[in-house]
Amino acid sequence: MRTAGVVALENRLLSSAKNTPLTAYLELTYRCPFNCVHCYCKNTSSPKDELSASEWKNLLVRLKRAGCLWITFTGGEAVSRRDFEEIYRTAKELGFLVTVFTTGYPISKAHLDLFRSLPPYTMEISVYGAAPRAYESVTRVPGSFKRAMSNIRALKAQGLNISIKMPCMTANYREFGRVKAWAEKNFGSLRENIYNFSYDCNIYPRLDGDTSPCKYRLYPEQRREMLAQDRDARAEHECAVKSDVVPVGGRKTALYRCNSWRSQLFINPRGRMKFCMFTEKFSRQAGKASLLPAFRAMGRQVARASTCTDSPCGTCHLRGICYSCPAAALLEMGHQETPVPYFCVLAHEAAGGGVPQ
Ligand code: SF4
Ligand code: SF4
Repeated sequence: MRTAGVVALENRLLSSAKNTPLTAYLELTYRCPFNCVHCYCKNTSSPKDELSASEWKNLLVRLKRAGCLWITFTGGEAVSRRDFEEIYRTAKELGFLVTVFTTGYPISKAHLDLFRSLPPYTMEISVYGAAPRAYESVTRVPGSFKRAMSNIRALKAQGLNISIKMPCMTANYREFGRVKAWAEKNFGSLRENIYNFSYDCNIYPRLDGDTSPCKYRLYPEQRREMLAQDRDARAEHECAVKSDVVPVGGRKTALYRCNSWRSQLFINPRGRMKFCMFTEKFSRQAGKASLLPAFRAMGRQVARASTCTDSPCGTCHLRGICYSCPAAALLEMGHQETPVPYFCVLAHEAAGGGVPQ
């Protein structure tokens, strides 16, 4: 969880230092000991293509020079890299605020020692269920629930700042209430002003174009059933939807409206610098030179990108709550302006307007 002071600092920097990569998501590997049904990236790169520890360390130094504050180690399962400790230590020594995304499953005694001596700013742990059956129907690894839970308890015992997130899909949505209650009991609840539980129902095709994860998506009635399991969740969801239904702003023909590319970047296991985790459009090799000019050049390309069709997404008043962004559309529909039917249904349903014909 970000403290009020850190959020204020970040907002000040965002308003004064546009187009600076304040946050970098480093996808250290797409390998993972799990084989999740919904995974968008597993095994979409080969280990021999991954940057070495010294290349990642060099990138960290250059990110620091470029003005970066936040580093998130993600994957795949970043912690499962043998040289994770070496890369992580460098990030901490350079003074970054470090977040680690993990399932907890590969955490070893050596990792516990590392995090005790050099705690991450926060650790975000994906939890797929409150019991082995649902959890392992997602991960497809027998015994994974027991081991992951044991490691999460060990991480908690270290006093680390942990937040739990639950990817929700057909295989596990009936566990939502139990996972939320468990997370709040162990890691704090919104009522205590600690928001250490989040969930994510968005499932995308794999980066290699395989759409098989999409069959695990929740449709509106299942989402309603899921949210009904927790009295706060439905209210939070409705509040977020209302505040995000806003008229489309900015340049009318602008293709990308999300703006996150102004202050964040992603670097994939092969060293491609991207503005979005789901696309390599406008990406470039992080290389050896200064990162800031390359980041800003990429940003200029994103900012200039224009629509070239009369897609209904261009003027849609639901864009603020719709997950059918150009990157997701390119991945799923083969064209960045084609509405993704699933997201279109969800957006209309969430706004209470019924399902579009
Ligand atoms: S834990 Fe994450 S990276 Fe690993 S297979 Fe599951 S979704 Fe993919
Ligand atoms: S997919 Fe549908 S709801 Fe989403 S922006 Fe496009 S037209 Fe609007």
